[in-house]
Amino acid sequence: MFELEKSFRFEAGHSLPQSNSKCRVPHGHSFLLVVKIRAEKLQEEGQERNMVVDFNVISSVVRPLINEYFDHCWLNDTLQTDAPTVEFIARWIYNRLKPELPDLYSITLHETDTQKVTFYES
Ligand SMILES: [Zn+2]
Repeated sequence: MFELEKSFRFEAGHSLPQSNSKCRVPHGHSFLLVVKIRAEKLQEEGQERNMVVDFNVISSVVRPLINEYFDHCWLNDTLQTDAPTVEFIARWIYNRLKPELPDLYSITLHETDTQKVTFYES
């Protein structure tokens, strides 16, 4: 079994108006997104021979999504929710990437240095 991880950083703001914590106040995070791919086999032919998937292919799928919906964005607006929690965001990213990255295994989103969420299908 192979596991590949590619990480991306972005800055974004949100608020959680339903929360009783300070998260209800508009604020921002420097998010770290970790895209994990899992596969049993390597590709046997073509440009990706002996790879699971080219890291550049992962980037070419993930970066446009980050640019459109996440980096320097207000997540309550771009994700069209009044509760853009880190759990919600991780699942949202997974569901958007899965059709384009069939071997996608999980999305881990670090909200701070000490808080992160992983979403995967069980
Ligand atoms: Zn927050």
